[in-house]
Amino acid sequence: ITSEELTKETLQRIHSKEDKLNAFVTINDDATKDAAKVDADGIKGRLSGIPIAVKDNILTKGMLTTASSKILSNFMPIYSATVFEKLNQAGAINLGKTNLDEFAMGSSTETSYYGTSHNAWDHTKVPGGSSGGSATTVATGDAIAALGTDTGGSIRQPSSFNGIFGIKPTYGRVSRWGVVAFSSSLDEVGVMSKRVEDSAEVLQTIAGHDDHDATTSEREVTDWRANLNKDMHGIKIAVPKEFWHEGTDPKVLKTIDEALDTYKKLGATVEEISLPTLKHAVEVYYVIASSEASSNLQRYDGVRYGYRAKDVKNIKQLFVNSRSEGFGDEVKRRIMLGTFALSAGAYDAYFKKAAQVRTIFINELNDVLSKYDLIAGPVTTSTAFGIGEKIDDPLAMYMNDILTIPANLAGLPAASVPAGLADGMPVGLQLMAKQFDEQSIFNAAYALQ
Ligand code: GLN
Repeated sequence: ITSEELTKETLQRIHSKEDKLNAFVTINDDATKDAAKVDADGIKGRLSGIPIAVKDNILTKGMLTTASSKILSNFMPIYSATVFEKLNQAGAINLGKTNLDEFAMGSSTETSYYGTSHNAWDHTKVPGGSSGGSATTVATGDAIAALGTDTGGSIRQPSSFNGIFGIKPTYGRVSRWGVVAFSSSLDEVGVMSKRVEDSAEVLQTIAGHDDHDATTSEREVTDWRANLNKDMHGIKIAVPKEFWHEGTDPKVLKTIDEALDTYKKLGATVEEISLPTLKHAVEVYYVIASSEASSNLQRYDGVRYGYRAKDVKNIKQLFVNSRSEGFGDEVKRRIMLGTFALSAGAYDAYFKKAAQVRTIFINELNDVLSKYDLIAGPVTTSTAFGIGEKIDDPLAMYMNDILTIPANLAGLPAASVPAGLADGMPVGLQLMAKQFDEQSIFNAAYALQ
């Protein structure tokens, strides 16, 4: 099969399902031409002719990039994100831009200006979020891999809800240049795919130091795929007892326990440990993430780019109306929360306190990882919930992130690995490792595949 044929067929499949799934904000119908060019030029890069989808908060030169917000609904980037440049150089074919929660704020893709995406297994359920569109298109088998971003779980939770593999690498592994900023100390780009090998390949392609992003590491990028190793003998797995707390669906826990038994059979040791600060993780995350978001989102003022309100009398009204009309409710909620937490009277009690508790939690996690190779547990407290079920209850939606937030607060690599089903819906096993030890995650995921 030629790359052109593969791409054409894939695009047809995507179009035929899009009514039901709403996985994309923009489908790239020119992808067939790009693929024909790859066929004509011959195999040049490691991803030559491979169809990949890209979350719509990653800048693509000359192709609409909306972050699923009305305020960016007409935004045409004049440059591409480093990660997208790297995919292009490797010969990957861009199938289009996938739907997300507005500015990646959410856990269900329901806050998207373009309407919710649907779970690939059950269209009445959410695909998770914020990388919901990416998860859906990978789970249906259309994109071989998709890029996502993960600030508090946005790659792992939708991967878990759709039964695919998804990895958020170490903070600093992958450039954030050209990625729409949400919370800069937590945001990370990562990969979702059905097969572990494919994510390893794509992650290697996009990883590495970037002069445009001072937080990227100078460390050499590992060839994770070539080093894949299923041998679990001598691997030490820590299981935080708090992950088994009452809020988690017992059927989810049963599936996770079975996966851990498999690891024991394969030679790993599994031991219970404690993360006492986990109970504060959600509060810490929502203070820090909202504070950073309120600062990052100041740039959307209706002047420089994006949506601009009409019929305004003065510049102040231009700012106010553009923002009032351009941002959705969840984004406004975060801006208000964050602005409050950073204000002179509240800073010490909220932002500073959250930053201090974050440090305590980081030390707790690193202490465990000094004695163990992996931390394992469920990704989520339940399988995919129904569309509309939690959208009017922000606190319930936020609590849903408790198990994924730790890895972001500490900048650790973490993944969701398909572990089985509960009531017919997929359950993801979460694996976290030491900073820059993505290999241990890939290996353990590969052993379970
Ligand atoms: N659900 C979390 C939030 O709403 C995480 C989102 C993300 O990782 N982008 O902030």
